[in-house]
Amino acid sequence: MAKIKEIRCIRTRPNGTWVIVKVTTDQPGLYGIGSASDYYHSETVITAIEEVISPRLIGREAGHIEDNWQSTFTSAYWRNGSILNTALGGIDMALWDIKGKEAGMPVHQLLGGPCRAAVPCYAHAEGSDLVGLEEDVRRYIEEGYSVIRCQLGGYGGGGFIDANKAGLPKNAWSQTRAFDDEAYIDSITKMFDYLRTKLGFGPKLTHDVHEHLRPQCAVTLSKLLEPYRLYFLEDVLSPEQISWFRLIREQCTTPQAMGELFINPHEWTPLITERLIDFVRVRVSKAGGITQCRKIAALCEWFGVHTAWLEGGDNDRVNQMAAVHLDLASWSFGIQEENHFRSEELEVFPGHALLEGGYLYANDQPGLGIDIDEEKAAKLLNHEQAAHRRYMAEDRKADGTIVRP
Ligand code: MG
Repeated sequence: MAKIKEIRCIRTRPNGTWVIVKVTTDQPGLYGIGSASDYYHSETVITAIEEVISPRLIGREAGHIEDNWQSTFTSAYWRNGSILNTALGGIDMALWDIKGKEAGMPVHQLLGGPCRAAVPCYAHAEGSDLVGLEEDVRRYIEEGYSVIRCQLGGYGGGGFIDANKAGLPKNAWSQTRAFDDEAYIDSITKMFDYLRTKLGFGPKLTHDVHEHLRPQCAVTLSKLLEPYRLYFLEDVLSPEQISWFRLIREQCTTPQAMGELFINPHEWTPLITERLIDFVRVRVSKAGGITQCRKIAALCEWFGVHTAWLEGGDNDRVNQMAAVHLDLASWSFGIQEENHFRSEELEVFPGHALLEGGYLYANDQPGLGIDIDEEKAAKLLNHEQAAHRRYMAEDRKADGTIVRP
């Protein structure tokens, strides 16, 4: 059995937002990698891993994944935070990678073996107007995607009113636009009416509200979209307002996807066991890694809920690979979010999953099947860009009130 010898982080991507954990063992050449990326708190996660969590794990059995997870989870008494979950998730993935290499099997084989041939993904279509959006949706249909997310520009798009028409107060703070719940409801309903008229009911369509609405408006939008038979409506509520899903369920059949900000079992467990959502969308690293997410997938199976692990533009290829192994081995898998990467980003990760015709394909290499080329990773990192602080964009209402992102 291999013992943990060293745990360190490798920061890459020009802006330094990808943090890859490398766990090396006392066995020659045996190591594993995992994802501990956090777009806004890369440095904080690295400190948590290298200075706080790592010293406790050195010398322990790499193969005791469950024990390493459980004991690390409570090692600082307080737990379930975003930073600590990400740190734990990254180390956990690396330990599964090591176990797979020791067994000579891909991680999805360790999880019970594949129950599907490949991983269907949904695409991100957008347009600043309806015609542009329709063109983008058609492009993805031609590429082979059967599920397509439809957005009018960035998050909240369709709900923004130009500042000089928004009725700002005379002492308004500096803002060029204002988010309006009712305008958003109106334009997103019209968007799906347009798309269904043009495309029919063949393509499976989704939309991401990204929490922008007041809870009552989330109920209204879900109900108004019912005739357009979405594949799912995503993040219609903020994590603080998840009890409102009961009201949505009483009102309509629009399927709900939720959970990309979840970090605590008390957030996802009631939504799954009360069948209040249809897709759970936690990020594998943010929930605490493969150990935690395989349990979420098993819970989903008993209650008819499906997984749709969060990927998206900020995510790295190692977290994506961890999701792919869970997708392949979980009966409760529903759909995987797609990612697009530049060629120089792909070169850093030999063995990465291949996206083709709307499907992700893993390889049959032992462990996660993905590695990191540390020389290329270092070259890709731009220290000046990485030193810049990163924050969510601030969307505000006409009176200046901040809108949840
Ligand atoms: Mg989302």
